[in-house]
Amino acid sequence: MIKRNTVQKMKIMEYLMSTKSHPTAEAVYAEVSKDIPTISLSTVYRNLNTMAEEGEIIKFEVGNEAHYDADISFHHHVYCKVCKCVFDLHDKEIADYITDNAKIPNFKVESTNLIFVGKCCDCILSEETMQSMQLAADEITAD
Ligand SMILES: [Zn+2]
Ligand SMILES: [Zn+2]
Repeated sequence: MIKRNTVQKMKIMEYLMSTKSHPTAEAVYAEVSKDIPTISLSTVYRNLNTMAEEGEIIKFEVGNEAHYDADISFHHHVYCKVCKCVFDLHDKEIADYITDNAKIPNFKVESTNLIFVGKCCDCILSEETMQSMQLAADEITAD
């Protein structure tokens, strides 16, 4: 018989591997609790943190929240501060360039953990739409 803890961990891993969204613990909990209604948010937290400590998944913080990623291959992240979505950036050249060029005294860089913060296309587009709607509204009130 498989232990209850193992089942919980398996479900968490299964969900993380099925998504590219880099969910927060709350998002993992929302998804996993559909299959295991008895699981608690703190159990999800504990499992995620243990898995991250053991190197089974990646944990990184951006926008004051921890995100989890089952893709442990070498990559960086791109974060949209408007809709808070996280994308993968598989570009080893950037990391190599930084490692080679960062002149940090008395220190040897072994790894980098870069997060590029900005706005995604969808958010830029919807901001532009909002602005043009605002302009149109201003024109109407100006009459
Ligand atoms: Zn966005
Ligand atoms: Zn990732």
